[in-house]
Amino acid sequence: MPTRRTKKTHQRRCYIFIVGGVMSGVGKGVATASIGALLKARGLRVTAVKIDPYLNVDPGTLNPVEHGEVFVTKDGLETDQDIGNYERFLDEDLARINCMTSGSIFQTIINRERSMGYHGKTVEWVPDIPLEIISRIKSAAENANADVTIIEIGGTVGEYQNLLFLEACRMMRLEAPGDVLVGLVSYLLVPGSIGEMKTKPTQYAVRSMNSAGLQPDLIICRAQFPIDEPRKQKLSVSCNVHANDVFAAPNVNSIYEVPLRFREQGVTDRIVEKLNLKKPRQEVAMWRELNERITAAKKPIKIGVIGKYFSTGDFTLSDAYLSVLEGIKHAAWAIKRKPEIVWLNSEDFEKHPATLAKELKQLDGILIPGGFGTRGIEGKIMAIQYAREHKIPYLGLCYGMQLATVEVARHLLGWKDANTTEIDPKTTHPVIHLMNEQEEKMKDKNYGGSMRLGEYPCELKKGSLAQKLYGADLVMERHRHRYEANPVYRCELETAGLHVTGLSPDGALAEIVEFKDHPFFVATQFHPEYLSRPMRPHPLFLGFLKAAAKK
Ligand code: GLN
Repeated sequence: MPTRRTKKTHQRRCYIFIVGGVMSGVGKGVATASIGALLKARGLRVTAVKIDPYLNVDPGTLNPVEHGEVFVTKDGLETDQDIGNYERFLDEDLARINCMTSGSIFQTIINRERSMGYHGKTVEWVPDIPLEIISRIKSAAENANADVTIIEIGGTVGEYQNLLFLEACRMMRLEAPGDVLVGLVSYLLVPGSIGEMKTKPTQYAVRSMNSAGLQPDLIICRAQFPIDEPRKQKLSVSCNVHANDVFAAPNVNSIYEVPLRFREQGVTDRIVEKLNLKKPRQEVAMWRELNERITAAKKPIKIGVIGKYFSTGDFTLSDAYLSVLEGIKHAAWAIKRKPEIVWLNSEDFEKHPATLAKELKQLDGILIPGGFGTRGIEGKIMAIQYAREHKIPYLGLCYGMQLATVEVARHLLGWKDANTTEIDPKTTHPVIHLMNEQEEKMKDKNYGGSMRLGEYPCELKKGSLAQKLYGADLVMERHRHRYEANPVYRCELETAGLHVTGLSPDGALAEIVEFKDHPFFVATQFHPEYLSRPMRPHPLFLGFLKAAAKK
């Protein structure tokens, strides 16, 4: 009698670990995201996981100058800016399971131990920590039903705090050697005095990896220039990697060029070969079109971003506003303009008010992004007043909306001490105040992951500019704030010209305000920048850039 064969339902899942060599901050996230985009372009289901080795449970409490932007996932986790890159390149929404820090791993393990989850067994660094890491990586893969999951380990190989993540990778590889690849993204320096690209630091990075029991399958060489043949050979021999698996990742004009550069070299051809995956043709027409649009955009459009998280020592950073910057670029390219971002520190306006008009006059649009605390606040309010009075297109994001409300209350309603209670808890006109549910949390010093976070619905007022731009009546947007517009003042502010045009469905929370009699003055309590994608700019950014183009 023939036996009935049971159908195998188990889906094969592959994993690619991306580890850094030599130094961090060289674009490992973009390399990871680009590999993901190319695999997706072959019709594979792809997701990406970011591992941050620090002990903070999440980056929500970190200073942006130190850490860069805090990105917020749809389901409300405060996370690393790389998650933003993955979302933009993969054109997928990621979830909290796609991110982990050492802090969050330890928290889970210790809580589990306290509730007898280990059933009286000794909890060990190894294997219990790597097992928790592996279980999260697999959950992320399941959650996205991914054929390929790319896992980026933050920092560089050889760092103490990375060891257990490398151990997790080693254990996964041992379990399923054919399903796990390891890529090293290293930096190749060209010391000015020598003028030659040096491979030795990368060789040491591979040695460090080897001592963790790992051998890279491919090496991506970030550098000022493309790596040449002799150095490829050198890396191949000394790092035990085939020369065909050493790829160049030189500096490019735009990060969106990276998928095309990787494709030219066959990075993902090698990956699918090694993982023994199906090899449909890569569909990269949309990446090509995007890059053509970027190169064709010649006429500049000047957008001033007024913030304060810029400086560390002698250096100016824009990482704290990464998604905002991307949002501006996506919209500018869509209207064939070359984005020129002018970073302005609001504290400078406070110190030298005379410079304000000179700086702002030359701009086509002014954007004030999110922020916290007192520093630089008055300078931002001065800039908003200038934008409103001189009819310069203005887009305010979160704090940028709250401060626009303060500005109108002070200068059009004459409430001189109007403020947000974040700055002045004793103001007689608290036009922005702490949200109800936040009071208890603040009393308990519960600061971690406790803001209003993630996606919420927003109803748009019929006939408003926002509704026109979105072309919808209800939208979902991501939030990150503790304070809100105080509804007590809504009526008076509307009389002064500041209209609420986006509301939470229960009518309680003002989510968008617009100032009438102005070419473009829109400010949101949420963060539209998180949803902007290179091929699909955010409607509010697009509206803002179009208005700026008309100035
Ligand atoms: N500090 C403000 C709040 O907590 C704004 C936050 C933000 O801009 N993300 O509500």
